[in-house]
Amino acid sequence: MMDSSKTTLSIDWEDFGQLFGKYHYGYESEPANGAIERQTEIILDLLSETNNKATFFILGILAKYRPELVKKIAARGHEIAIHGQNHESMFSMNPQAARKDIEDCLKLVTDITGGEILGYRAPFFSVNQDNLYLLNILADLGFIYDSSIFPLKMPRYGIDGFSEKDTLYELPDGKQLVELPLTVATYLGRKFPVAGGGYIRLMPKALVNKIFNDQIKSNRNKMIYMHPYEFDTHKIDVSSNYPLDVSRYSLRVLALNFRWNLFRNSVRFKIRDLLKQHRFITCLEKALNVKTNGTSTKLLGC
Ligand SMILES: [Zn+2]
Repeated sequence: MMDSSKTTLSIDWEDFGQLFGKYHYGYESEPANGAIERQTEIILDLLSETNNKATFFILGILAKYRPELVKKIAARGHEIAIHGQNHESMFSMNPQAARKDIEDCLKLVTDITGGEILGYRAPFFSVNQDNLYLLNILADLGFIYDSSIFPLKMPRYGIDGFSEKDTLYELPDGKQLVELPLTVATYLGRKFPVAGGGYIRLMPKALVNKIFNDQIKSNRNKMIYMHPYEFDTHKIDVSSNYPLDVSRYSLRVLALNFRWNLFRNSVRFKIRDLLKQHRFITCLEKALNVKTNGTSTKLLGC
């Protein structure tokens, strides 16, 4: 029988407008607008319709303004994990600041849901060979798994040669942590980061289905990562929420809107297809399977 038990849908639960304001205009912590409710409902409906569970990596600066929505996701039986407090790259932080960002989010989200948080994903997948000490911090804070490492060198993140398999690592201080790396597919000897965000948005549905079936046939990792805005039924207009210093019909705005909306309407249907075809488990279920069944591997360099 084909092994289809390892497919996971992870949602980096963050608000497009909040982050757009932060990165383009330096806004520190704006309340999110109403789009996040609509987008979250769409995801929850897709999961209910296909009877699947997902993992939501909750961002602190959004949870702060939308605690009821976080409670709602948890009440539907989905796993609540965290995506850090401020959506800062971990590459730009020293170990103390990184620990504080994780702890702040952990406290905020635990206070909201009352449940245990056992998983973490760094913003921008910002864990590589230079800051593997983050895994020590996570294990020390009681996390069971991390899902931040791209096993492929990309311009801004990733580690070439890092294991593509879900693995229980033994850390230098004797603690253990499961790493659930992001999915890459190999075609013609080259690796491709196929399983998330823009990649799923831009690929035709038939190709997305083929890639996932190929991953299952070769018993390879299937960790999908998406963002709420990618599921929206409304078009993103970057000029609608923020005081751009240019006209909404300027080339810059048109180019940004084109970039963010290209094929976005297709995402819901592609993910729905995958949710219908495969059995999905949460990241935590996956990590616990690895922990109970697997042997540990020493992780050097952290
Ligand atoms: Zn993010």
